[in-house]
Amino acid sequence: MDLEKIIFLKYGELSTKKDNRAFFIKTLNKNILHVLNNVEISYDYGRMFIKPKDNEFSEVINKLKNIFGIHEIVIAYVLKDRELSKIKDSIIYLLANKEFKTFKVEVKRSDKNFNPDSMTLRSEFGSCILKNIANKKVDVNNPDLIVNVEIRQKEILIYFESIKGLGGYPVSCAGKGILMLSGGIDSPVAGYLAIKRGVKLEAIYFESPPHTSERAKEKVKTLAKKLALYNNDIKLHIINFTEIQEEIYKNIPHEYLITIMRRMMYRISAIIASRVNAKVIVNGESIGQVASQTLTSMSAINEVVKIPVIRPVACFDKLEIIALSKKIDTYDTSILPYEDCCTIFVPDHPVINPVKQKCEEYEKLINYEEMIYKAVKNKETITVTNAIEEEYKSLL
Ligand code: ATP
Ligand code: MG
Repeated sequence: MDLEKIIFLKYGELSTKKDNRAFFIKTLNKNILHVLNNVEISYDYGRMFIKPKDNEFSEVINKLKNIFGIHEIVIAYVLKDRELSKIKDSIIYLLANKEFKTFKVEVKRSDKNFNPDSMTLRSEFGSCILKNIANKKVDVNNPDLIVNVEIRQKEILIYFESIKGLGGYPVSCAGKGILMLSGGIDSPVAGYLAIKRGVKLEAIYFESPPHTSERAKEKVKTLAKKLALYNNDIKLHIINFTEIQEEIYKNIPHEYLITIMRRMMYRISAIIASRVNAKVIVNGESIGQVASQTLTSMSAINEVVKIPVIRPVACFDKLEIIALSKKIDTYDTSILPYEDCCTIFVPDHPVINPVKQKCEEYEKLINYEEMIYKAVKNKETITVTNAIEEEYKSLL
């Protein structure tokens, strides 16, 4: 039988974006090639076809499952000869080793010139199956097996099942964002959700050695590595925040420590964003979670930057965030008990409704512009990939 086994992808939400469609598909193609180097890819406006060079179907599918912009992953059989009898023979051949009692046939005819029409084809294929394979029944409502046949311009596709993809948009088709990545539960989840909408992330982490340890930094690197899986590697900018934090601690009324500290983080994030051409800041703030995340606090903190700040988990309950962090496998790392630079300088009674004028007044007590300049100048940037983990796994 002249059938070739391949994988094809359905794009899902891409199809609603008419003008940008070609760009999205090209981006998806590039992203897939970044993760998979042993495949041949071709595509048109409706489908992307992937041929694993060394027949490693399951390995290829596992990787495709982590790529945004894919709605469905389908293992299909391609038949180049579009003659009706050949299609029927192929269906019977492919069904020979499938276990099912009930089935239905779905026909999609993207080549509208093909005769007969979809309805006729559906009943022809259905009766052919009933005639050739014993003890099978049609059930259109709840079949054990769906026999899909697509009539395309140059070939026929036959397939039976599909695997759900991640959905969303291909990473980087929406442009770039800076993720404020702490060691907590919320920010990796926020990052994941931004990547899902096509935002290519670079991350920024504020550390305060010796108040924060090397282990805390390693934890953030591990989280970055988990996100790298979806982001095609991730750049991590590490900012030494010690001097700024100590100066704030020494000079500013303690109830405003967190508010001012976060205003400094925002300012630095905005500078890095403009340097790397990122259009938004992304963070893990969630309304009402802590004193610095009341709406008044968010507003007092947000006012120091012009760049939009996206808060993907702003309206999520903590339990919802936790569920997602378990799904993306960041939870176990996030709950490791290493100190974060925010937690070590936490005052007993942080202000819940900070006043903007007071923030400005207090900030005059420290020479923050110079310290920010220094912190940005001394930043360390590393590229975190997911590959090391994979290599390590393959050695086991
Ligand atoms: P997470 O919110 O990630 O669980 P957290 O709860 O300890 O960590 P918060 O104090 O709630 O962090 O801070 C809110 C957001 O500010 C974080 O989600 C993160 O985006 C950002 N942030 C806090 N601390 C840091 C840091 N040290 N480096 C980078 N970003 C930070
Ligand atoms: Mg939080």
